[in-house]
Amino acid sequence: MTHYAANKFSATTPIYYVNAKPHLGHAYTTIVADAVARWHRLLGEDVHLLTGTDEHGLKIQQAADAAGVSPQQFVDSIAPKFEQAWERLNITHDDFIRTTEPRHAVGVKKLLQACYDAGDIESDFYRGQYCVACEAYFIDDELVNGNCPIHNTPTTFVEEENYFFRLSRFEERLLKWYADHPNCITPGFRLNEVTGFIKTGLQDFSISRKTLTWGIPLPWDESHVTYVWFDALANYITAVGYGTDDAAFNANWPVDFHFLGKDIIRFHCVYWPAMLMSAGIEPPKGWAVGGWLLAGGEKMSKTTGNVVNPLDLIDDIGVDGFRYYVLADTVYGNDGDFTYEGLISRYNSDLANNLGNLAARIATVVEKKCGGIGPTPSLNSILAAAAATAVADTSAAWHSVQPSRALEATWGLIKATNAYLENNEPWKMEPGEAVDTVMGDALEALRIVTILANPALPTSTQEIWRRIGLTGEITDLRIGADTQWGQYPSGRQVVKGEPLFPRKK
Ligand SMILES: [Zn+2]
Repeated sequence: MTHYAANKFSATTPIYYVNAKPHLGHAYTTIVADAVARWHRLLGEDVHLLTGTDEHGLKIQQAADAAGVSPQQFVDSIAPKFEQAWERLNITHDDFIRTTEPRHAVGVKKLLQACYDAGDIESDFYRGQYCVACEAYFIDDELVNGNCPIHNTPTTFVEEENYFFRLSRFEERLLKWYADHPNCITPGFRLNEVTGFIKTGLQDFSISRKTLTWGIPLPWDESHVTYVWFDALANYITAVGYGTDDAAFNANWPVDFHFLGKDIIRFHCVYWPAMLMSAGIEPPKGWAVGGWLLAGGEKMSKTTGNVVNPLDLIDDIGVDGFRYYVLADTVYGNDGDFTYEGLISRYNSDLANNLGNLAARIATVVEKKCGGIGPTPSLNSILAAAAATAVADTSAAWHSVQPSRALEATWGLIKATNAYLENNEPWKMEPGEAVDTVMGDALEALRIVTILANPALPTSTQEIWRRIGLTGEITDLRIGADTQWGQYPSGRQVVKGEPLFPRKK
């Protein structure tokens, strides 16, 4: 392996539990992580984006039993649905880990053994009310009329010998680590939530089950399989070589960002760094914590009143339209409401009316007034300053994992260019130098926009690039060198083509 010159950037999504098909929540986190990874590739960085599936546990074993197949057959039937969904959404992950892979089992056992050897995993008795559907114990106060508070079904009293991870020993170490890394969680207010939780006192947690067979056996006691956290969270290190390839692991860890939803922040920002510290492994460099993107109940109905899976709307709106909406409409970190009306409204205003309209009117005027050949931009155009601002603001926003602000900054250049055309009215001019100047400037602004918007709209920006006569792949370009004003070349044929974003009702 030779890694030199380029900076590295690594990111992960959570691995998704295969008891259900991909849904909006999975898609949301994955699209954000993908767009950020794509931005870092445009910076010329050596990017590694990891996703995958979480395939062990009691619920999977039960679902397999109910379906009359082995757990392995069951997970083999569901995991490809995630890979297919990510292919459909144009997700550019560099690795897809399944927790049933041998490389994962090797690394999980190494991690468990390291924590056991450190004295942080010990045998103890667990007694409590257990909900099978939750795969979780509840204390009596949490039960509602003796039932699971989430499922409203009876819990079972379980007493079993478990191995426990002594999380309670890590309070001071975690608080010190967070004090030394005050910018590691974005958005920043989530850091207070994490340290606040640590300060309330940490409970040891169970890491094994004797009654479960669908899992990875503990290396020192094969009568137990490990359970949930040591299996699932460990994917982040096993995928990059922990336990199987030390050189790769040392080159790829710690990760720059774990992307996750706010509901699993405790496990990612408290359990996980403590497990790593116990094993003598550096904690992650960063976490990017998203809010919930909720589908708005009846609002999702189109006309019939049926609630649809938002992922089914990709057929209507296109992959880029879908990606754009989830990236642009919700400030990452805040909760968002996914509605059909919101999706259509965003699509029409930002894609059909702004970007699509700009590309179409430029092509129309170049065809009518410039013989279909794109003129070159003027170096002192007033759009040059707008472009420089858009590049700087878009870069800063992607850097701080704020896709909505990044797109707002990029769309600032689209709006400035549309305004420039409206002020100059090149469609009313006679062919000649004046119209060439205006259209060269507009083409150059559009060229820069297609690069800046590429992480969100990978397919349609590449198509605009082609229509304005440019060759090669945008993904081979670099923010900086290729976003400097004044590079649109002379002599290129500009074509209009079919509408990229036909208006929707
Ligand atoms: Zn439950």
